[in-house]
Amino acid sequence: VSVFQQVPLAPPDAIFNLTNQFKADTDPKKINIGVGAFRTDELKPYVLPVVKKAKAILFDDETLDHEYQPIAGQKSYTNAAVKLILGQDSPAIKENRYAGVQTISGTGANHTGALFLSLFYNKSKKCYISNPTWANHRNIFSLVGFEVEDYAYWNPETRGLDYEGLLKSMRDAPEGSIYVLHACAHNPTGVDPTREQWKGIAKVMREKNLFPFFDCAYQGFASGDLDNDAWAVRYFVEQGFELFVCQSFAKNFGLYGERAGNLTIVTKSTEEAQRVLSQFEKLQRSEISNPPAFGSRIVDIVLNDAALYKEWTENLKYMSSRIMEMRKALYENLIQLGTPGTWNHITDQIGMFSFTGLKASQVKVLKEKYHIYMTENGRVSMAGVSTTNVDYLAKAIDDVVR
Ligand code: PLP
Repeated sequence: VSVFQQVPLAPPDAIFNLTNQFKADTDPKKINIGVGAFRTDELKPYVLPVVKKAKAILFDDETLDHEYQPIAGQKSYTNAAVKLILGQDSPAIKENRYAGVQTISGTGANHTGALFLSLFYNKSKKCYISNPTWANHRNIFSLVGFEVEDYAYWNPETRGLDYEGLLKSMRDAPEGSIYVLHACAHNPTGVDPTREQWKGIAKVMREKNLFPFFDCAYQGFASGDLDNDAWAVRYFVEQGFELFVCQSFAKNFGLYGERAGNLTIVTKSTEEAQRVLSQFEKLQRSEISNPPAFGSRIVDIVLNDAALYKEWTENLKYMSSRIMEMRKALYENLIQLGTPGTWNHITDQIGMFSFTGLKASQVKVLKEKYHIYMTENGRVSMAGVSTTNVDYLAKAIDDVVR
């Protein structure tokens, strides 16, 4: 009898399964608006020009070897990542009460942060995630033993934020619970709290001693401006919160496969930051030993060179602008067709995704009749929309909602 006899078959991952179905589809009109990866208007993957330059620098560098990286990553990398999210004038940086750990992209930052909290955070075993959220949040926090609950976020009536519901959830949550907050460009809804609303959220979190666990996978993608997109995190730091921020360089550097991420930790004191970092190093050792070098070296080169940094912000502008143009084009097409319903949420929402409000049954027809692949919850990855397929997409949506 096999030792694996008891292993049940797990279902395939919804998003990657969708991509496989898309790849197998031979219809020339097919569209992939499932996975959240940027595409050019020709629907090709985009290697950022600044990344090409950084790669050339790396390949020409005769001094580079292939030794192990430090357990928590190179300081030049983690410090640059911390500075990027907290801002160089951050009180946490000035007062030297922060730490950075290089992680396996944003997923690894979420996992390592959650793992640390499962071992060292004793105020609550409850972790709250937005309803809806990135599919992996629940997996990651349950895996390390948290009781994962939803907090109200999306209001289907207004196709906007359920602000009152969110605050109520926080007021009702046990003291000290962990709240996973999307720093910007909420996935999947594309709806972020306003600055006034963030202030209200911080106030209730302070009253209830809730722990802010920020997930920042789209800095620079939401508004096209890195500082603007970091506003909420910086506000919480100014308000004196201790917090974690997960950073991914998958989307904003187009380094999806290289797995370059960082976990930024803000503490009350330098000494505390040192203790916390030492435990992260211990955890990291048993999980991956040393973080990967290639992607982080590219990010390190760009973030630490003024000219390349500037070029990166221009590359980011190109990506965010193309997405905004496609939002406008899809909206205008639907209006022109007189498609039933209101569609202004498509242009109001920000970031990579649009939460269309399409039902699972409609999504199914889009796939079967039109070869348009999107997640069941009606989320459209705007990066898969182009000037050549937007008419077809709008007509198909028009058909399924009538
Ligand atoms: N967090 C959110 C909200 C995301 O949308 C994503 C990617 O889709 C991630 C984290 C992590 O992505 P990665 O591990 O590729 O950096």
